[in-house]
Amino acid sequence: MNLKELNERVSAARRETEARGETFYPGPSRVHLAAFPPRERWDDWVELESKAWPRRLERRYMLVPTTCFNCESACGLLAYVDKETLGVRKFEGNPEHPGSRGRNCAKGPATLNQVTDPDRILYPLKRAGKRGEGKWVQVGWDEALDDLAARIRKAIEESRHNEVMYHVGRPGEDGFTERILAAWGVDGHNSHTNICSSSARAGYQFWMGLDRPSPDHANADVILLISAHLEAGHYFNPHAQRVMEAKERGAKLIVFDTRLSHTATHADIWVSPYPGSEAAIMLAVANHLIRNNLYDREFVRRWWNWEEYMAVEHPELETSFEGFEEVLKNLYAGFTFEYAARESGVDARQLEEVAALVSKAGTRFSSHNWRSAASGNSGGWQVARTLFLVNALLGAVATEGGVYPNAWNKFVPKPIYTPPHPPRWNELTWPREYPLAMNELSFLLPHFLKDGRGKVDTYFTRVYNPVWTNPDGFSWVEVLQDENLIGCYVALTPTWNETAYFADYVLPMGHGSERHDIHSYETHDAQWLGFRQPVLRAARERMGETIKDTRDVNPGEVWEENEFWLELTWRIDPDGSLGIRKFAESQTNPGERLSVDEYYAFIFENSVPGLPQRAAEEGLTPLQFMRRYGAFEISRKVGALYEQEVADEELEDPRTDRFGRVYTRTPKPASPNIVPVPVLDADAEGRRFVGVRVDDRVLRGFPTPSGRLEFYSKTLADWGWHEYAVPAYIKSHVHRDNLNPDQTVLISTFRLPVQIHTRSANAKWLDEIAHTNPLWIHPSHARALSVKTGDLVRVETETGHFVLRAWVTEGIRPDVVACSHHMGRWKLAAHEGEGQRQLMQTVSLEHTGDDWSLKRERGAEAYKSEDPDTTRIWWADVGVHQNLTFPVHPDPVSGMHCWHQAVRVRKADASDRAGDIHVDTSKSRSVYRTWLQFTRPADLHSPDGTRRPYWLLRPLKPAREFYKLQEVQGAE
Ligand code: SF4
Repeated sequence: MNLKELNERVSAARRETEARGETFYPGPSRVHLAAFPPRERWDDWVELESKAWPRRLERRYMLVPTTCFNCESACGLLAYVDKETLGVRKFEGNPEHPGSRGRNCAKGPATLNQVTDPDRILYPLKRAGKRGEGKWVQVGWDEALDDLAARIRKAIEESRHNEVMYHVGRPGEDGFTERILAAWGVDGHNSHTNICSSSARAGYQFWMGLDRPSPDHANADVILLISAHLEAGHYFNPHAQRVMEAKERGAKLIVFDTRLSHTATHADIWVSPYPGSEAAIMLAVANHLIRNNLYDREFVRRWWNWEEYMAVEHPELETSFEGFEEVLKNLYAGFTFEYAARESGVDARQLEEVAALVSKAGTRFSSHNWRSAASGNSGGWQVARTLFLVNALLGAVATEGGVYPNAWNKFVPKPIYTPPHPPRWNELTWPREYPLAMNELSFLLPHFLKDGRGKVDTYFTRVYNPVWTNPDGFSWVEVLQDENLIGCYVALTPTWNETAYFADYVLPMGHGSERHDIHSYETHDAQWLGFRQPVLRAARERMGETIKDTRDVNPGEVWEENEFWLELTWRIDPDGSLGIRKFAESQTNPGERLSVDEYYAFIFENSVPGLPQRAAEEGLTPLQFMRRYGAFEISRKVGALYEQEVADEELEDPRTDRFGRVYTRTPKPASPNIVPVPVLDADAEGRRFVGVRVDDRVLRGFPTPSGRLEFYSKTLADWGWHEYAVPAYIKSHVHRDNLNPDQTVLISTFRLPVQIHTRSANAKWLDEIAHTNPLWIHPSHARALSVKTGDLVRVETETGHFVLRAWVTEGIRPDVVACSHHMGRWKLAAHEGEGQRQLMQTVSLEHTGDDWSLKRERGAEAYKSEDPDTTRIWWADVGVHQNLTFPVHPDPVSGMHCWHQAVRVRKADASDRAGDIHVDTSKSRSVYRTWLQFTRPADLHSPDGTRRPYWLLRPLKPAREFYKLQEVQGAE
């Protein structure tokens, strides 16, 4: 049977299965054999014990679903719980999960390594010596909770709310913790997003009011990725499998990646642009579509806010669509293929080839930019904005095979409690210099603290390791060591990390199979809800036991955050006098703390359409259903919600303004299924915004200020960035014009497929596959330096240097070098007793004034533990921690740290050793101050006296009156 016949057979099987209303399990067999255990047999699944071979020994398993926590995709996992030992033997894919459909990347099954990791943290620890000295005592949860609750209560009583800060890396949940912070009344949410994805988010949000795209890859004819989606991009495995499905159908894949990534190797056209030139290429593609009338005129006429653009920017011209088309033609006329070729270093003929392919895609054009070029370059947010411009020209927006706004392809259920917006604004995270930043200026915190802008009394990190993950890590060490700046630091983490070593408390939290969370992501045109759960708790409950506390099933005293936050909230306000306790109180048993069972049962019973009915069909409660299957699909083929007609009954006394925005007196309907609508001001007479008039109908539109797709962002224009109000090309900080002749560009943003930032280092299978990060360098560049593969090279940044081995490869441009960011994990000799030994080197750290030197004392080595595999560690070089040598580069619009570095590369000195780092943090301060000058602060540029446009997304929004710039009671 050839491949085509196989595919046809699989498609036929899928159709037949789905016609019966059953879930199709596509599997590695490709012919729908028993690729996955049928769900009817999940209570008693039998497999032969491989280790008993050649004896035939049967093992009986209970299969319990959860979701992977090793990246943001949250793919479904099935834990194989041995019915005899009640231990987990392995994790495989959950075929019932609509996003991942039974498939995982290597990191999913490696959850088992993390659970059984001999180096994991099992008990709450309290610092015994000086910060960072490596002395700890084991404490009980009660002691830690009482201490922290007393600190936070005191801060609240003394109106120091903003000194309580929670800093999260990978949230992996539905906003649970944001609501806890809101219950405390603190504006204390801090995230890693500005070192991750906020630049791309900005590009998308200014277009469609929502900050992420949801590409329908599986149904596209042409897919354009400005990122490495087949190996590590956003929603990696769920998207990668759909990209491959499209390729099987004959879709063409275009990949922009300076480096020959695994994704690029699968492309029909691989474009390797000079870093930061991607927006110039996209504008050349757009120019091609516009000049040759290859765009969807009707879509542009109906859905772009061109009338507003013409009225504001070209009042001298008659406002007609034809007039706008003329303006549009002239606007991008300079972006010829030749110009883009000069900027990008890519042959103009290849760019023409890209444009020709894109122009044929019509509405089946899916695209995605995440991290990659957006997060590497200053102005990188325009990469996403210019990429989406092509979708908007083709009308490939919320079409089959096009790109949806993310919120239409995810589901956010209503929780049991929604505390009010905090009555304050925290300038340590949302400073007035960055009014349009997509997320908190988290990576500037050390500088703000050193500037005396405030202090932090109680600082939590969760799934976050800023010393290692952020740029400028030694500035973090400096503030973490200063108890006047950070009073108490609490690391919530399952594993040791570079930041936790400087904590006051290290509190052990569970991995993906040891905790509860719900999540829903835009993996395709559908809405689903996934349920992460402690699998041993669910297994024992299936056996009839009652488990009240997740610690009862987890190893040691490992807990989960949900129960931890509820308990901490309860102890902050034990008598309810602060008005906080009520948000952690049971509704069924008033006076008792809310349990996770009640929390999730409420959501599943009341907020998820169709789930109670589906569960009842199997004689289950909604919670039991989710504990049994781990996911629920709410809807498929959501479609173009912007075209949804607003019903007459929602149009009481309507008014339409000059740009077609329609306002109504009808109150907003309460709906558990949240379809985002614009957060727009009411009209002068108090009507709420309800949609836009398109021709003769009132349609729902997009959640933007205009209600349409914003080719023209009046927000950008009004807040001081007029020159960037339409999609534009901004020359990067590493553009050739900004480099000295002896400098080159370092790309430091790419991920290896089997590693994430921190926690994957505690997975031995992954460490064996990938454990070091050499410098990618082109043969011509290497020849010029007299360097060959394996030689040591020194890379000099603005603030210091690092030393690593070279990897000479044609997979990188000659004018660029690259180094993966996962490696170079380290611990001090003083931390030998604690933590990670498979991927962490032991280093010495010298510190004089602002001068920091880190030297590798020992690499990874074999050691004895309860896991015999640790005696078989054969690798020693675990790479270099390059991020320590990067100063902060906050983009003045999006707030994103611009990761690419202008560097000098040379052969290492004789005294240099692999892994060496040197940094001068006074230079970090100087670079920080330079970039601060690029901003256009709200004080000078706010059009309405507020700190930030209210319509822009913000995690944990404060109450509206605290958006005002002038001091108000509660602003701290
Ligand atoms: S893509 Fe891999 S790491 Fe990410 S959630 Fe899925 S299985 Fe886990």
